[in-house]
Amino acid sequence: MNVYDCIVIGGGAAGSAAALTLGRARRNIVIFDDATNRNRVTQESHGYLTRDGITPSEFREIGLKELQAYPSITICNDKVIEVKQDNQNHLFEVSTGQHRYTTETLLLATGIQEEFPLEAIKEYYGKSLFSCPYCDGWEMRDLPLAVIAEDQAFAHHLAKLVFNWSKDLVVFTNGFELSEDVRNDLDRNHIQAYTTKIKRLHGKVGILEHIELEDGTMVARQGGFVIPKFYRSNDLAQQLRCTFDESGAIVTDGTGHTSVEGVYVAGETEKSGPSSLLLAAADGSRAAASINFDLSSKRF
Ligand SMILES: Cc1cc2nc3c(=O)[nH]c(=O)nc-3n(C[C@H](O)[C@H](O)[C@H](O)COP(=O)(O)OP(=O)(O)OC[C@H]3O[C@@H](n4cnc5c(N)ncnc54)[C@H](O)[C@@H]3O)c2cc1C
Repeated sequence: MNVYDCIVIGGGAAGSAAALTLGRARRNIVIFDDATNRNRVTQESHGYLTRDGITPSEFREIGLKELQAYPSITICNDKVIEVKQDNQNHLFEVSTGQHRYTTETLLLATGIQEEFPLEAIKEYYGKSLFSCPYCDGWEMRDLPLAVIAEDQAFAHHLAKLVFNWSKDLVVFTNGFELSEDVRNDLDRNHIQAYTTKIKRLHGKVGILEHIELEDGTMVARQGGFVIPKFYRSNDLAQQLRCTFDESGAIVTDGTGHTSVEGVYVAGETEKSGPSSLLLAAADGSRAAASINFDLSSKRF
C-alpha cells in the first residue's frame, strides 16, 4: 500500500504554500484542488508583496509551476469528497469518489465561499463590488461607493473603513434598521443610509451604475463593498471529528494542529472567515512546518 506523508486538500494560497514547504522537506505528498478558489471571480489580486496586481489565474499557474519542480509532490485536479481515519493503523483514507489514497497526515486548506444578501451581487462581485477594502479599496478610491450590509455592526464597521478610501459613501441595509447612534455617526460624516429593501442592481458587465430600492428610489453608485456570509463548502473537518469553538472555528494550537492527531488546518477554512493571500500562505507554510516536524520526530 502506498502511504503518503501528507495529503493537502486545497491548492489555494494556504495549500500551495504548505505543499511547497513539504516538497522542499522531501515529503511524499499529494495536493488536491477542484478550482473553486473564491477569488476566481476577480480580475486582479493586490497586496501580496512582489505580486501586486497579478491575476488569480497567473498566481495559481506560478504556484503550480514551482510545485512541479519537486518530484515528491503529486498534483491532482480533483475534488475530495470523503476523508476518514482507520482506527487500527491511524492512517487516513481520502476519497475522490473514483480513487482512494492513504496518508499519515492530512492538511485541510479548502478555503471558504460566500453567500450574499442579494443574489444579484454575484454578477458584480470581483468587478465593482468587493468584500475586502484592503484588497480593492485603492482601485475604488474617491468613487461614489455603496456599503451593502444587513447587520448594523458590520454596516457601521465597513462604513468607517471604506470612508478612508472614498468620502462619497452611501450605506444600504436592505431592510434592516439602524440605531440612532449609528445613524448619528453616519450623518456626522455626511454618509446617507437607506434601510429600504434593495429591488435591483443596475449596471453593465459587472460594473455597477445604480442601486434601485423597492420604493423606486434610484441611487447612482459606481461600486462598493458588501458583507457576505462566509461558510465552508464541505464537512471534511466534521468527518474527521475535529473540535469547533462556539464561533464555528476549527480549534487549533495556533500552528495548524487540530484536536485530531495527524489532522492540520490552514488558511480561511480554519476560522471560516476572510483573510488574504499573504496571510493564508503564511498559515500554510506554518502548518507544513508543524507537519514536517511531527513526522520527523516520529521517525527519529
Ligand atoms: C473578489 C475577491 C477578491 C479578492 N482580492 C484579494 C486581493 O486582492 N488580495 C488578497 O490578498 N486576497 C484577496 N482575496 C482573498 C483571497 O482570495 C483569500 O484570502 C485567499 O484565497 C485564501 O486562501 P485559502 O488558501 O485559504 O483559500 P482559497 O484560495 O479559496 O483556496 C482553497 C482551495 O481549496 C480547493 N478546494 C475546496 N474544496 C475542495 C475539495 N473538496 N477538494 C479539493 N479541493 C478543494 C479550492 O479549489 C481552492 O483552490 C479576494 C477574494 C475575493 C472573493
